[in-house]
Amino acid sequence: MADCLFCSIVAGDIPATTVLETDRILAFRDIDPQAPTHVLVIPKDHYPDAAALAAADAALLGEVFTGAYRVAAVEGIGETGYRVVFNTGADAGQAVPHVHGHVLGGRSLDWPPG
Ligand code: 5GP
Ligand code: ZN
Repeated sequence: MADCLFCSIVAGDIPATTVLETDRILAFRDIDPQAPTHVLVIPKDHYPDAAALAAADAALLGEVFTGAYRVAAVEGIGETGYRVVFNTGADAGQAVPHVHGHVLGGRSLDWPPG
């Protein structure tokens, strides 16, 4: 989609540090990490948020989530624990309207989040 930051990363027009890639998903490091591991997992196709993706292609949402736990494994936080967050909409502070799961770990994570 034109003018979408994460579509531009998928296209290679904006650089990112890839952690994991399949034919349908991409995982890359967050530019402003909030934890020692902070990776974003996205479908390569554009969907505005997790609800839209779940409604349109639940299998692809499953691939995104599978990507999240694979990222946790390769980052070495599968055993120590991690959080997967899909900020959805304004109250959740979603800033980039291309669905993305944050994989956060490598430190003790506060609960509840702010
Ligand atoms: P949101 O608030 O939408 O859930 O999360 C968007 C995330 O994208 C933020 O954590 C932010 O740091 C990250 N981000 C914004 N711009 C870029 C960028 O150009 N490259 C990368 N790798 N991450 C970005
Ligand atoms: Zn997009």
